[in-house]
Order: sequence, then structure tokens, then C-alpha cells
Amino acid sequence: MAENVVIIGSGPAGWAAAIYTSRANLNPLVFEGAITPENQTNGTLPLGQLALTTEVENYPGFPAGMLTAFLDSSIEKSRREIMPPPPKEGEEKHAVTGPELMELMRQQAVNFGTRIVTDDIVDVDFSKPPFRLRSLEGKEVLAQAVIVATGARANYLGLPSEDAYKNRGVSACAVCDGALPRFRDRALVVVGGGDSAVEEATYLSKFASKVHLVHRRDELRASKIMQDRAMSNNKIEIVWNHTIDEVLGNDKQGVTGVRIQSTVDDAKRELDAGGMFLAIGHTPNTTFLKGKLELTKKGYIKWTVPMRTNTSVEGVFAAGDVADDYYRQAVTAAGSGCMAALDAERYLAHKGH
Ligand code: NAP
Repeated sequence: MAENVVIIGSGPAGWAAAIYTSRANLNPLVFEGAITPENQTNGTLPLGQLALTTEVENYPGFPAGMLTAFLDSSIEKSRREIMPPPPKEGEEKHAVTGPELMELMRQQAVNFGTRIVTDDIVDVDFSKPPFRLRSLEGKEVLAQAVIVATGARANYLGLPSEDAYKNRGVSACAVCDGALPRFRDRALVVVGGGDSAVEEATYLSKFASKVHLVHRRDELRASKIMQDRAMSNNKIEIVWNHTIDEVLGNDKQGVTGVRIQSTVDDAKRELDAGGMFLAIGHTPNTTFLKGKLELTKKGYIKWTVPMRTNTSVEGVFAAGDVADDYYRQAVTAAGSGCMAALDAERYLAHKGH
């Protein structure tokens, strides 16, 4: 028997789609991803990119405050026990963290009857409905409708020292992490030369004492207006023709600086910095969809109808960062997950399912 709707992915888009389709009595099945060393290395474990961040201060509905009692009463005990420990009595109040937010969304989907498989979908046959999906563990599932919400992963440089300081001064999201106390009034480094790098540097300049924008060439890729913004900001210093050779730091303070290397003469020098932000692009998680759905040049799923989540295959919908390289926010991903659920519901009703 074919499922009504299978949702692939477990970030905010996937859980929003699950909450809406389960409340519409579609009995959705979510493939939340597999827990494998490869997914660990790639940053593609279940619960998505938010599970890799610390405080989330821009998701509406979670003003700073102690959330411990709320989390204890909301989330299944077995999963609560494996979450990071709550702050101790008297410790600083905190906003919701990424992992907490994702567990809350997951639990909300479970509460309405969503079924979850902890496995990756690795192959799909979208040639005709019901669609055929195959998982990493070899499970085959048929589905009348599919919502793809597999997200994207931030690109990192791939240095071991960069990996060692992730969440301790190394971040790929200034909007998510930039306002944290560890970055305030410190010199910071942004890596990249595109619009994101300039946007992140500009955003960070509100909190930082100085921002070094380290770019590997002698001209920015960013649009003219963004270039002007970087040049006219007296807290931003562009370090041309340099790459990051090493992230420097220690266990106590986290990141304390970077060693950079000239692309012109290979000379190395150090910059003091309390953090390093990567803005060198994202990679959508669409490898298993190549040749199955229309993708953009950069590999994102193409939304084929304006303001809808339809893809090039009727009955297959896409939500969140896997189709959006522009907004890339938790709240916009959740919004498009809701849209995909409504689009799938209407598609199924129209088909008489
Ligand atoms: P992008 O335009 O692809 O820029 C990536 C930057 O990272 C490039 O400058 C690239 O250098 C550099 N880079 C890539 N790999 C690197 C590596 N291994 N080491 C060092 N540097 C590396 O990506 P983006 O800035 O994220 O922008 C993505 C899209 O979103 C663009 O279309 C952009 O216009 C749009 N966007 C718009 C806005 C806005 O308008 N407000 C804001 C953000 C993003 P090279 O230049 O040498 O290739």
C-alpha cells in the first residue's frame, strides 16, 4: 500500500510539513535521516543545520528565559535525556537553542501521529505515481506525494583546526551566532568575497570591534552595492589575496585568531580574532535527486510555479533550504514546509486520494 505522503528531511521545513499533513489526517511518514559517520562529517545528521547551532534568537515565540520546565514537559523523556543538559539553577537565562527547537518541532509532529524512520532516502523513482523511494538500509516505500526538505549544508574550508573550533568561535551563520557574548567587542574574521560575506561582515560590525574580511582574490564577487557597503564601513577591513591557513585557539577561550597565507607570495601572518565566520557558499542536499527533478545550476531544487512549492514532477513538492538559496532562515523554511503540506494536501484531494 502506498503512503499518502512521505516527507524527506527533518529540519524546520520537514517538521512543519509533518505537523500540517498529520493534522490533515494524511498520516505522513518522515525519513529524518540516518545517524552515520558520513552524515556526521558532512553536517547532515537528523534535525538539520539548526541542530549544529547554539542559541536561536530570531525564531519568533522564544524570548530569552528558562525553558527547562517547558522542555521537560513537552519532549519524550527518552529523548530529553540525550539532549544537552539544561543550565543549572541561577545560571544565565538563555534563548531556545537549535537542538531544543528541533526536538520541540519533532515532538509536535509526533503528537499528531507522524511516523518517523531514522534513515536516509538514497534513491527515488519519480517516473510515475505512486513514487518509489529506497532508503540507505534498503527499505522501499511507495508514496502518492513526496515533500523534499533535505536542506543544504554550509561549506567549510576543511581544515582540522576549523572543525575543532566549530561552535567555539567558528560559525557559518553570522545571523544565527553573531550576537552571542563571545563575539561582542572582539575582532572577528569573515571568509569569502560574495554577497553573503559582505552581508555577514556588515552584520557583525554592529557587535565586533573590527571585522577582517579575508578574500582569496583582489576583487569581490559581491554586487556593487554590497561592495560599496563593505568599503564604506570603517569597522570592515578587507584582507585581499589571502586564504586561511589555520584557525588558532585553545580549550579555554575557543578561537583566538587565524593564520592567513598570501595567495601572491605565500607569506603567512596571524590575525587576532575571537571568531571566524565562513561565507563561502552552501551545498544543497540533492545528490540523490540528480536526473530525477529539475535542479538549478547550483543544484537547488527548482520551484516551478511562483509562490508554490511545486517541482518539475507533479506530486513532488520541495520546502526549505533545499530549494531556497536566498532567505535560508529557520522561520522561512518552516513557512515553506507549511506551504508544501497544503500544496500536497490539495494535490491529493484533487487526485481523489
Ligand atoms: P557566492 O556568491 O558563491 O560567493 C562565495 C564566495 O566564497 C566567493 O567570493 C568565493 O571566492 C569564496 N569561496 C568559495 N570557496 C572558497 C574557498 N574554498 N576558500 C576561500 N573562499 C572561497 O555565495 P554567497 O555569497 O553565499 O551568495 C549566494 C547567492 O545569494 C548569490 O547569488 C548572492 O548574490 C545571493 N545573496 C544575496 C544577498 C543580498 O543581495 N543581500 C545576500 C546574500 C546572498 P571567489 O570569488 O574567488 O570565487
